[in-house]
Order: sequence, then structure tokens, then C-alpha cells
Amino acid sequence: MQDILPEDVPLWKKIESAMHRICALYRYSEIRTPLFEFTSLYKRSVGEVTDIVEKEMYTFTSNTESTPISLRPEFTAGIVRAYLQHNMHKQKAFQKFYAFGPLFRRERPQKGRYRQFHQFDIEALGSPSPYLDAETILLASDFLNELGLKEYKISINSIGCPTCRAVYREVLKNALIPNKDGLCQNCQSRYDRNVFRIMDCKSEKCRAIAAGLPSIQGSLGAQGSLCPGCKTHFDKFRGALDSAGVQYAINPQLVRGFDYYTRTIYEFTYPSALGAQDAILGGGRYDNLIEELGGPKLGAVGFAAGIERIILAMKNETMIERVVEKHIQKQKQNVLFELAISDNERKNAFEKAMFWRREGIPADVDYENRSFKAQKKIADKADIGFSDTTGPDEIKTNEHRIKSMKSGKEIVFKLYDLNIEQQKILKIHDKGVRAHKEGNEPEAIKYYETAEMKLNDFFDKSFENALIFSRFYLNMGISYRNVGKYEKAEEYVKKAVESDRNYALALFVQSSVYEKLNKRKEAINAFMEAYELNTNTLSWAQSEGNKEYFPQEFLDRLKSEVEKQYVYDASGTQNVKNPMSK
Ligand code: AMP
Repeated sequence: MQDILPEDVPLWKKIESAMHRICALYRYSEIRTPLFEFTSLYKRSVGEVTDIVEKEMYTFTSNTESTPISLRPEFTAGIVRAYLQHNMHKQKAFQKFYAFGPLFRRERPQKGRYRQFHQFDIEALGSPSPYLDAETILLASDFLNELGLKEYKISINSIGCPTCRAVYREVLKNALIPNKDGLCQNCQSRYDRNVFRIMDCKSEKCRAIAAGLPSIQGSLGAQGSLCPGCKTHFDKFRGALDSAGVQYAINPQLVRGFDYYTRTIYEFTYPSALGAQDAILGGGRYDNLIEELGGPKLGAVGFAAGIERIILAMKNETMIERVVEKHIQKQKQNVLFELAISDNERKNAFEKAMFWRREGIPADVDYENRSFKAQKKIADKADIGFSDTTGPDEIKTNEHRIKSMKSGKEIVFKLYDLNIEQQKILKIHDKGVRAHKEGNEPEAIKYYETAEMKLNDFFDKSFENALIFSRFYLNMGISYRNVGKYEKAEEYVKKAVESDRNYALALFVQSSVYEKLNKRKEAINAFMEAYELNTNTLSWAQSEGNKEYFPQEFLDRLKSEVEKQYVYDASGTQNVKNPMSK
């Protein structure tokens, strides 16, 4: 059994976010199907005489139901079932889906082969076009390229339609007659049941025999078995790959372990790091499956990429360190560790940790009865940004003793007073907000200024990372902006942004202030940061009340920037950064 440990999770997240982005660009919609289906579905789709159905499925019945169900060994069957069951094909025959999740196959576990593994899967249903086959290969390449993988190889083949397959089956059987006894036991039985699978056998003997078999494409001097329709399809598919500059090899030995494939099949391998299990992605066209599962006759194509193997491949490339480092960098930003000098302060340290979490700052506290010294050691560790020490003095004076682990700088301020003082200040501030709402900006500013004076009295040094007063500063900034004092507005909005970079509204207002100050570049940057946090910022900018700060020409510029940098996925719900834009 395989665990995914926290240290590998950054890689998984990177893969998942690349998947969402690429699928949005290629307009595939995410679908989530159940972990199990009726076993009969896999028998009808994957095929009775395949390794998966014959020996790899985890199949069971419950105590009360006799119909067997199986843990999903692959995605395609479930996705086609969902497409038909929900009549999606009647609304729009051509639909593109993607899925991500665990699959189950009873196998002998080894490097790159597990009983529970994960795939990123895409299925484009409802089209016979060879260009769609090429699209799936390009999508797969863009995905792997974004993950920094360079050394993968693409093999393609055509296995024709049932008509050419019947011809090819006989060609293979005839060609195998002289060598039949030399095949492994398994392949001898495959000879009658599913002769194509012999090409896929891993045994040395069978591989040698398979290498000498005629190809379905035909070769120089030998007539292939593909019918004219399948041949044209294959040529168009290749033509599209060639003009897109995709490097691939035709591998006549390539067959895949599912019965539903027709025409195009392909595989991506990563031989440099994966050993025997070097296939990282496999796919192909299946023009008869939709009909076989009770739907109309519609072509389809899809692939599945094996995530565990992609991770093994990524670990082979140097970029992995950067992924993990970036993740750690992100994590350690603001984490605060509560230190209790002795057992007497543990309860206070616990309460303070809760206080910070509710202020939006990630906080930890010792639960292992460590000594003060041992707690400090933990806080010194790389992923902690600040420590907050509580001893008898801090309890007596209600103080926070916050130390930045990076700079070593320490600041002290009162916690419980803070709550009372904060409330008083905020009350004055609220009066300002009320005045602002009534359109009386000068009055609002008066209240804000009073509140600020008290704030400065109370805080000798403000704890910049405490995020607490971001909203306060922002409101001041807005009022200054509204009365045309743009420099003052800039100063306060900057404070708001600095104290809470995750506050979309602050960045949004900052953008409008920069624009008023004719700082166009800064205005666009601030807006894009706001948009990254909240895509509603675009409609805020278009609202009536913001017309003055977002004139048409500025708005057009922002819209074009958004279009350049972001893309909606096919469901229209997700807005993801365009990886192609820098
Ligand atoms: P398939 O669904 O068999 O076409 O497999 C598609 C991809 O999934 C393969 O290229 C592998 O990368 C991955 N894969 C398939 N079976 C396993 C397994 N048992 N363990 C890990 N990865 C697998």
C-alpha cells in the first residue's frame, strides 16, 4: 500500500494545478464519478478477455445485494456511463471531460505499479475527428512540459476498426503458426482468445517473436491491414502532429490492454528513470464504446496519465527542489509559535494561539510538554515566522512579546487591553464609516483621524504582520481618495495592503488610487493581485459607484490584461491563470 506523505504533497498539488490550468485552456470540464461501478460495465467496456477484467479488478457484492460491483480500474467506462445516464449526449453530443482520482488494480506491487494508484484522465466524447486525437496528445505534452518533464517519448499506432482488425487478426494468427509453441503459456492461450495481446507480453521469448510480426500499417513491400478509412484517419492524425512539431515514433507493436480502442492508440514513456514500468500516459480512440454502452454511434478519444509514475519522473528532474522550496517558503510566511515559559502559562499560550488563528494568522503551540528551551528550538526551525513568549510578567501586564525569527527583532504590546482599546478605536472608526456612507467624507475623515491618533497612542510600534487594522487603514484610504487627497489615500491604502496582502478589496482600492496618481503600471499590478484573490474585482470595477475611479479606457486595459493572464475552464466556474502568459 502506498501513502502520500506531506513531503510529497507539494508535487501532487503542482500536478493538480497544472491539470486544472491546461484543461481550462483546452476547454475540458471536470467530472467526478464514483469509486465503484457495476462489474458488468467494465466487462462490457474494457472487455472480458483483458488482464484488467480477468484478474485485476477488486470485485465484491454486499450482504444484501447480489449484483457484483468493482472498484474502478480505469476512468473511461464510468465517464461514458455518466455521459449517457444523464443524457448529456442529447443536450450536446460533443463534450470534453477530465477527471482525477484513485483507481484500483490487483497487481503485484513494484516500483511504479501499485494496487491503488492515481490518474489524470481526459475523455473527449462525440467526435470522429483525427484532429481531436492530435489535440489530446498536445494537451498531454503541454501538461508534462508544464511539470518540467523533458525526457518523455511518444509512441503512436493505429489498431484500425473492427473490420481491419478482423483482417489483421488472421494475418497475425497465420504469421504466428510457425512460432506458436515458442510462446509463453499465457500467450498460447491468448492466441485464440485475443491474439493482439501477444504483442504486449513482457516475456523475452514472446517479445522476440512479436518483433518479427507484420505491422497493421504494412511496411515497405507489404500490404497493411488498415482499411482506407482507418488509413486516412491515421495520416490526418499524423499530419496534425507533424505540423504542431510533436516528436513521436510509430510503434507497430503498440497495443493497449483494453478492448474498446479503435484506430489511434498512443503511449508516453519516460525510460530514463522508470525501469520496466516506464509508461506514464496511455490513450487512444474508442469509436464503438458509446454505442456498446447503449448510446448513439459517436466517436471518442481519451487518455489516462499515471500520477505516481509522473512523480517518479519529476523526482528525476532537477526542478523538484524548486517546487518543494517554493511550497516551504509559502508555508513559513506568517506562522506564529506560542512559547510558554513554564507549565503555568500553558493555558495562556493556548488561548493566544487561538486568538491569532482567529485573526487570520496561522499559529502553533506546544502540546508535548516541552521545556521552554525545547519550545524555542522548535520556533527557531525554518517554518516558523514569529514567536510569542508568555511568562508570568506577560500575564501580569497582558503583553504580547513577539519576535521575528528572521530579523530577531522583538516588539511588545498588550493583548487584553488591545481588545478593549481596539473596540474603543473601532467604535470611533465606525462613526467614520457611517459618515462615509452618508456621503459626508470630511466628517468621516475627522473620525478616522481621531481613531488613528488613539491608535498611535496605544501602539508604540504596530505589529505589522498582525493584520488587525488592515480594514481600518483601508477605510481611511477610501475616504481620503473620495475627497481627492490621493497622496494621503496612497499612504493609508499601502498600510492596509502591507498588513494584509490577502485582502482583495485593499488591493482593488490601491489600484484606483494609483490610477488617480497616474501610476498606470502600479495600478494594473495592484488590480491583477486583487483579481488573483477574487475574480469579482472585475465586476466591482464596472459598477456604477466606481465609474469615477475606473474610467472606460482604464477598464478596457484591465479587461485585456485579465484575458491575457486568465482563462475560464469549460464549466465557466473556475478562472485559472494562463500558464502561457508570463
Ligand atoms: P492504463 O489505464 O492502463 O492505460 O494506464 C495509464 C497510465 O496509468 C499508465 O501509463 C501508468 O502510468 C498508470 N498506471 C496504470 N496502472 C498502474 C498501476 N498499477 N500503478 C501505477 N500506475 C499505473
